[in-house]
Amino acid sequence: MTPENARLSQLRGGLAPVEVGARGIESVARNADCTRLRAIVIAGLTPTEVVKHVLGQKPDAMSPFAMTLTQAFERRLLANAGASLLTAYREKGLLQQVEAKIASIADHAPGNSAASRNRRERETRRHVEAKLRGDPNAPNLILNPRLTLTIVGVTHAIELDYLVASDDAAMYRVGAIKSFADRGGKTNKANIRSGCREASVGTLALQQLLANLGRAPELAGDRVDMVLRAPGSFTPRLFASMRAESELASLTRALATSPSDLDQIEQLLPPGSTFATPGIIEQLPNHYCSACKEHCALWQRCRAQAQAQGQPIILGEQAAEQLAAAGSIGRAVDLLDGTGRPPDNRAEETLTAELRAASALLDRIANG
Ligand code: SF4
Repeated sequence: MTPENARLSQLRGGLAPVEVGARGIESVARNADCTRLRAIVIAGLTPTEVVKHVLGQKPDAMSPFAMTLTQAFERRLLANAGASLLTAYREKGLLQQVEAKIASIADHAPGNSAASRNRRERETRRHVEAKLRGDPNAPNLILNPRLTLTIVGVTHAIELDYLVASDDAAMYRVGAIKSFADRGGKTNKANIRSGCREASVGTLALQQLLANLGRAPELAGDRVDMVLRAPGSFTPRLFASMRAESELASLTRALATSPSDLDQIEQLLPPGSTFATPGIIEQLPNHYCSACKEHCALWQRCRAQAQAQGQPIILGEQAAEQLAAAGSIGRAVDLLDGTGRPPDNRAEETLTAELRAASALLDRIANG
């Protein structure tokens, strides 16, 4: 066990580590200001595990329908050695008829044992090295590749959907399969951004692998591919070479924010406590916002905490912004009613005037 892993194991306090994967790391970028989430992920846990094993509660589960749809779509694209995925690339003219070399990493070393996982990592690396050498036998599609991403000295495994490269491309591009339907301009932009960020986690991992091999990380590029589903069917719709510079930048920023090393994570916890100690999770600084529900299993806990503290965010992002000068719902009510101490500063004076004007307007509307 490396010294970092030993420290992490101690931080987890007996909780088994989990592979947080690209999705777990992507979720950190969704709420870059949340130290609680980042510390949990860096320690090799997920909010779901914390809810289950530390808080002893049942985490939110993905709807069985959504889960079945996701798995079925992925299976469909990757089945028969990725035939359907290959067809999608050929139809767009992105791979030629002769560019049909496919390697399935999951088939090469199936299973969950440490030995299988290591073999999957080695096999992925072997193909990337072949591509770097310009080997004409390097695969055009690598299905379920396994890369690693080191954050604050801790290595996280990332299993991606696929990597793709034509024969003349210098390096692979990361591809993500998402089961939500492509509805043109009406496709949920947040879903697309999150899919791009998830694929970008793979690009960061590929950059690190290239750097470890003594090559320029920039070879990994700043574009990702995404496959969505045509509405009402399993027909793939490929969106190739999507620009992902901003996703890469937001991920890099989020991962560089503190706690940026293990020392800082250890200092967050009171002496002698671990993530498994009851009540410790709630003591870690957080940043609850309405989007937490979409990606973090701790959202109910954090919302209850925000509610107990009277944080304006529980009324929504807009209210949080407007009531920022007061800092809490209780203080805003005091300013409105004229109870409690008078405004402390210009910002509170302005807010008091705005709240009273809004209240008078509401009163006129309600009472005529
Ligand atoms: S739910 Fe809590 S822990 Fe999760 S991202 Fe939001 S504030 Fe952070």
